[in-house]
Amino acid sequence: MALTKQVPGSFELGPIRPPSEAYSLLIRVTRNCPWNRCKFCHTYKGEKFQLRSLEEIKQDILTVKAIQDGVKETSWKSGYGGSVQEVARLMLNNPPNQGYYNVALWLYAGGESAFLQDANSLIIKTNELAEVIRFLKQTLPSINRVTSYARSKTAAKKRLEELIELHEAGLSRLHIGMESGYDPLLQYMEKGVTAAEHIAGGKNVVTSGISLCEYVVLGLGGRNMWREHATQTAKALNEIDPDFIRVRTLTIHDKMPLYNELKSGNFIRSTDEEILAEEKLFIEHLECHSNYVSDHITNLLQEIEGKLPQDKEKMLASIDRFQSLPPLERTNFIVGRRVGMYVNLDDLANSRKHQAVEQIIHKLGQGNSQIDDETIHSLMEGFI
Ligand code: SF4
Repeated sequence: MALTKQVPGSFELGPIRPPSEAYSLLIRVTRNCPWNRCKFCHTYKGEKFQLRSLEEIKQDILTVKAIQDGVKETSWKSGYGGSVQEVARLMLNNPPNQGYYNVALWLYAGGESAFLQDANSLIIKTNELAEVIRFLKQTLPSINRVTSYARSKTAAKKRLEELIELHEAGLSRLHIGMESGYDPLLQYMEKGVTAAEHIAGGKNVVTSGISLCEYVVLGLGGRNMWREHATQTAKALNEIDPDFIRVRTLTIHDKMPLYNELKSGNFIRSTDEEILAEEKLFIEHLECHSNYVSDHITNLLQEIEGKLPQDKEKMLASIDRFQSLPPLERTNFIVGRRVGMYVNLDDLANSRKHQAVEQIIHKLGQGNSQIDDETIHSLMEGFI
């Protein structure tokens, strides 16, 4: 079956999207990050920010439409009666490029969701962004959900009427990297935004009717600022009351400015157990109505999830369960998690996995039952 011969070339893709947008169609409306200074972020370092023209973006959307039409045509010719899912599934096995792969995945998942890349789409003039969203939905009418990344500072500067205009055009959700609500930490990390701006931007989005997801980095405060990071971030989130709070754990790579701070001793990293104590304090201080989501592989306990406030005790009980384990069991879980063998605490009861992790600890610890923190961090960063 010729899946792709009758359809034209590809379209431009940016480097990242949130984990929850794995099945979304990716439409790149800007290139890179207009701020690009955060110490803990390497994604766009060395790349220049650019707005893309309306013509370029619309052409990409038309290319997606042409690929979709080609898939439909193939479906009719191959006896699938115009249904795109089976053809999309086959296309996933051998896509000619990443654009086709993204369209195939999006169609396979039902073709309902689109994510606008890159780091801060709100920086586009409101009328132009609204036009892009309207054009996207008119050209690909199966799309009923459009989301994007944004910076708090930009969301705070937009007038409420502008955000309402975007919501009416079809913008369903904004994903904002809050990272922390503690000003000295935001300043140290060069986030370029204050807690007050996070709150103003977040509240603006919530009031406009656009769904809001705020991201928090566990461990970002290191050993020196972990308490304030936990309590002040919770305080800011309580004021915003976003629909979602998503947590991920700090990882450090040599392409991040934070790497040099770590090597020089200016930044002292927290251990997994310390970060869990930080997460406990953070959750204890949350008094909002958000969905707390731990959908990132870097998080030690991904089972800490739930709707606030009703699931708070259940979430804290998962942390208590880990903290009340004997030290060797805690080490076993941490190592098992960091090498990708464990998903949740129940996996400790799997004797085959447990023994395999014991052997790894024996090997890494050169006969000792404990492993140093640096090795644990390397395991995590090597695994993701
Ligand atoms: S604003 Fe976001 S994308 Fe830009 S440097 Fe900071 S973390 Fe990275």
